[in-house]
Amino acid sequence: MSDADADRMTIAQAKAWAVEQLKAGESPSVDSRILLCHVLKCDQSYLFTWPEKTLSRQQQQTFTEITDKRRQGYPVAYLVGRRSFWNLDLQVNESTLIPRPETELLVETALALPLPHHANVCDLGTGTGAIALALASEKPEWTVTGVDRIADALALAARNAILNGNLCVNWQLSEWFSALTNEPQFDLIVTNPPYVESNSEYLEQGDVRFEPKSALTSGEDGLKDIRIIVQQSANFLASGGWLVIEHGFAQHEAIVSLLSQRGFSECQGVTDLNGHLRITLAKWQKP
Ligand code: GLN
Repeated sequence: MSDADADRMTIAQAKAWAVEQLKAGESPSVDSRILLCHVLKCDQSYLFTWPEKTLSRQQQQTFTEITDKRRQGYPVAYLVGRRSFWNLDLQVNESTLIPRPETELLVETALALPLPHHANVCDLGTGTGAIALALASEKPEWTVTGVDRIADALALAARNAILNGNLCVNWQLSEWFSALTNEPQFDLIVTNPPYVESNSEYLEQGDVRFEPKSALTSGEDGLKDIRIIVQQSANFLASGGWLVIEHGFAQHEAIVSLLSQRGFSECQGVTDLNGHLRITLAKWQKP
């Protein structure tokens, strides 16, 4: 090694350095590996196979910078610009929420419903497109519309459709239903809306500190948007259609009463792996 290279780290040294930097975090080892793979454009087995390889100056600088951002709490998914969801590899950025594993339960719930073969489906507040794209990939015979009020999020969702095998989804710029002028009749409306209470302490911890508040919070009780969605969905559902909502762990009963007041029937809750009711669904029958 020449003198000029003496300060260059090997893969093993870079990994050990990052683990030390990130030791106050939740997952120093996993985070270090993901960040290092991102910088080296390699998979994790490469790190274990070539621990003695040195990083280039540029790689070392980039790795140092992103590890430092991670140390300050910035989400791994934003640092590497991607996150897996369902069977998809999604690009993510600060225009929208990072897809969560628990939202896969919403996808499972939607897929288990008794729907027409050529169902007309809407994902409200699609963000990265995660839910719409998961449904389109499982049910190519469905017509899926992904709605978001943020143009950057829709551009990201459209890119994700292309990157995941040209999945077919109609992207619609709209604040909830406001721009859906021709009153489409959906067989299914799914949504993972903002539902966190605006003054919740939860917003001070972890990744959510860096995610857009508009995708997370919804008034003091967290139900402001869900009220609008329940109220308006009835106008956009075919008779016998379903509304499926992801929500916070203490909101099921309030949402059931909103749904019942609006005239929905067959309200049901779905529990997550922690035993919390995190999804509520109901059927719309035209009066
Ligand atoms: N499920 C998200 C979280 O726990 C909240 C996102 C949302 O409001 N839809 O961080």
